[in-house]
Amino acid sequence: DNKILEVKELKKYFEMGKGNVLQAVDNVTFHVNKGETFGLVGESGCGKSTIGRTIMGLYNKTAGDVIYDGKNVHELDTKEKFKFYHQMQMIFQDPYASLNPRSTVREVIAEPMEVHGLYANKKEQLDRVYQLLEEVGLNRDHANRYPHEFSGGQRQRIGIARALALNPDFIIADEPISALDVSVQAQVVNLLKELQEEKGLTFLFIAHDLSMVKQISDRIGVMYLGNLVELTESESLYDNPLHPYTQALLSAIPIPDPDIEESRERVILEGELPSPINPPSGCVFRTRCPMAMEVCFMKKPVWQEVEPNHYVACHLYDETLDHKKPIT
Ligand code: SF4
Ligand code: MG
Repeated sequence: DNKILEVKELKKYFEMGKGNVLQAVDNVTFHVNKGETFGLVGESGCGKSTIGRTIMGLYNKTAGDVIYDGKNVHELDTKEKFKFYHQMQMIFQDPYASLNPRSTVREVIAEPMEVHGLYANKKEQLDRVYQLLEEVGLNRDHANRYPHEFSGGQRQRIGIARALALNPDFIIADEPISALDVSVQAQVVNLLKELQEEKGLTFLFIAHDLSMVKQISDRIGVMYLGNLVELTESESLYDNPLHPYTQALLSAIPIPDPDIEESRERVILEGELPSPINPPSGCVFRTRCPMAMEVCFMKKPVWQEVEPNHYVACHLYDETLDHKKPIT
């Protein structure tokens, strides 16, 4: 069994007052294998960051389970929690916002070590900071400077060094390259790949852009309005997308291979992304789905494995349904 993280029927709802409930994450199930990169993709507001934060235990769950290395993340005692944060760390979209502007790079990177009482000896701690700076492609001269003196890409490297300070096994990267210039994005992705190889890291890589996750992910989960709608290996998602939403997302990405381009019709999604407060009945995608049928208004599609390792939630693939009546 290679599963390091299991997310089972996870729900995270937020009470918004006046009886309104924001269904940020609704019944999401997936697992992440040790050493892989699992990409979680979807438009902003679809719940992917909320999943990341709930996995980290930063949010309580509403229902379901998050199991990391055999332990339920939301039932850890203080000692276990301490150990958990050695194993799992997060990096964020805007490294500047997540770094204290009044702290030097050295202080920023050393902070998790201080919190966890790692090095009593300052010299050892500093050596570790130098080592981490070098691991992320910076150098020891950067240690006494301030985050604002660095470019966006360098700040993200500082954020990565900080996340590595406790020697984690698992990193949740929440849109780590979305705020960076395209040229810098590739550098940061390459750095993450190198670190993964060297340290055997596992990544949950969150992004809003499918072309971004493709480069780095082994498997990809596609989210829409708090729901996971499709999940499979990276290649099979691109070669054989099954969910109409994934098909639409992919049709918007230019493909270098002219043969594929021709066979892939551009799907334009009509309408706005609905609110996760009182989401549509039945299938959450039905208000924008070009394939919507009558049943899609009434019944929520079940999450099922339609091909080996290829999961989708869509009535089009429900073999038990005999009334796939189009809307007239
Ligand atoms: Fe479209 Fe219906 Fe499938 Fe939802 S269940 S994606 S509305 S066809
Ligand atoms: Mg987000």
